[in-house]
Amino acid sequence: MKLLVLPGDGIGPEITEATLTVLEAASRLFKLDLSFEEQKVGFAALKAHGTTMPDGLLGRVAESDGVILGPLDQLAYPPREKGGVNVSAVFRVKLDLYANIRPARTRPGLGKVKEPMDLVIVRECTEGFYADRNMYQGSGEFMPTPDVAMSIRKVTAHACERIARRAFEISLKRKKHVTAVHKANVLRMTEGLFLDKVREVAAEFRGVKLEEVIIDAMTAHLVRTPGRFDVVLATNMYGDILSDLASELSGSLGLAGSVLAGDALCCAQAQHGSAPDIAGQDKANPTSLILSAAMLLEWLAERKKAKACGKAAEAISAAVDKVLADPKKRTADLGGKLGTRAFAAAVAAAL
Ligand code: ATP
Repeated sequence: MKLLVLPGDGIGPEITEATLTVLEAASRLFKLDLSFEEQKVGFAALKAHGTTMPDGLLGRVAESDGVILGPLDQLAYPPREKGGVNVSAVFRVKLDLYANIRPARTRPGLGKVKEPMDLVIVRECTEGFYADRNMYQGSGEFMPTPDVAMSIRKVTAHACERIARRAFEISLKRKKHVTAVHKANVLRMTEGLFLDKVREVAAEFRGVKLEEVIIDAMTAHLVRTPGRFDVVLATNMYGDILSDLASELSGSLGLAGSVLAGDALCCAQAQHGSAPDIAGQDKANPTSLILSAAMLLEWLAERKKAKACGKAAEAISAAVDKVLADPKKRTADLGGKLGTRAFAAAVAAAL
């Protein structure tokens, strides 16, 4: 199986190297026959090719069985006409990677909440408040005058319906409880359409309980009683914000895995950003990307009937738990002393 590896910016190259250490060990142990093709994106590509997203990249993606994408520092990119392309956004829209699946759970001795938390956020990621991807041509964000800035939010029945279906399908393998997060008290049409579609899908999943919670209240509930949530279904921006909150509550932004999953392709991408403040110091926690890669293997196991990939995914997740259980084997964000490389070596050894 061929994986395309795009290390990205900031801590991206370090956490990608760490992830490959674990994947190579898993490939040997479980006979996965994984091969990796590395390509530059982000600032490395800008320097080499004059654009953060080199021509032909989507073609390379299409030739691969899955993608490992490091974090990208879009905020620091030059404007589009000077080569600054938001690779993540292009992937999500052009490759139709519409479902961002972001689990977060506490582990013994780790976590900033009073009760155990084990939830998965299912986030729509091709439209919503992200105006840069909402128009056929041009940007959905514009300034009619120098002191007025506007942006267009897009919510479609199609996108709401399919992300809701994903959430309910995932809930069948869990506690059969979906919490739909919204702000329909204010945004009656856009959030109303989202809720209508969620309710329609819910009617097909009779055994699954649907709860509807307003986004602002959701943040308080998540901090106060995180244990009551199972699958959290959200539009793009709410899902993004809630997942940072959930992963930090689980112990650190560096802990939670994440995949962008379409119907035909899956991309492992760490939940957090490129953390330029700690880049190049061997300090980053690579767990998020390692667990994202495990989720990609799980996806390959299901969609491509690659049973061994499923076994490897379980083993990687168990190995991460085993290493994290020992406070001496944690990275600095969790109060430990291990560097990125040493942590990855410990996970590979624990497989
Ligand atoms: P970006 O501009 O790419 O979003 P950022 O630094 O603004 O980068 P994050 O990368 O999400 O946003 O980081 C927020 C904080 O969490 C930073 O202080 C960063 O160092 C820390 N952090 C993020 N990821 C990790 C990680 N994997 N390991 C340790 N600390 C992390």
